[in-house]
This record gives sequence, structure tokens and C-alpha cells, in this order.
Amino acid sequence: MSIYHDEVEIEDFEYDEEDETYYYPCPCGDRFQISKEELKAGVDVATCPSCSLVIKVIFDPVMMLFIISFLIYAYRSLKFLLISFNDDFMYFEEQFIDENEKQKNINVDKETLKN
Ligand SMILES: [Zn+2]
Repeated sequence: MSIYHDEVEIEDFEYDEEDETYYYPCPCGDRFQISKEELKAGVDVATCPSCSLVIKVIFDPVMMLFIISFLIYAYRSLKFLLISFNDDFMYFEEQFIDENEKQKNINVDKETLKN
């Protein structure tokens, strides 16, 4: 059983996009760190490389729920947009083919008239 030096919400961590790691200042002068991969794997303990202190990472459940709902909403909207765009495109394509067919028929009519 580990004794946590502190419990810190993930929003209070500083995120480094290059390292894909979250950092939080440690009293020893170094920084606690936890990588995105570790978080994904369910790890909720950030460690300091310079001392033995550990902190517990807190996820705000309301915030997480909000983020998840937003992502689902965004995904659905995007899917809907893509589908409607696709329908429009198919419609346009059909119209275009129809026009081409008509044009061909007119040409054929002209040919037959000539003969
Ligand atoms: Zn430390």
C-alpha cells in the first residue's frame, strides 16, 4: 500500500505534448510525472524520478462524463454531416448522369434524322 503525498486532479497537471506526459511540481524540486499511456492503462499514481514521493491522480467524474458526451455528440454530428454530404453528392452525380444520357439521346436523334 502506497501512502500518497497528495491527491491532484488531472487538470492541475501540466501536459507536455512532445513527451505525451503529465507533470506536476514535486516539493523536492523535480516533477511528478505520469504518461498518457499509463493513464490509458488505468494507472492513477504519478511518481517523482528524484524522490520516493507519489501522488494520486484524480479524475473529475463529472468532467470526464462531460468530455465523453461531447465526443459522442461531436462524432454523431460529424457522421450526420458526412452522410448528408454523401447523399447530396450522389444526387448530384445522378443528375449529371441523366443530363449526359439526355445529351446522348439527342445526338442519336440528330443522327437518325440525318439518315
Ligand atoms: Zn520529488
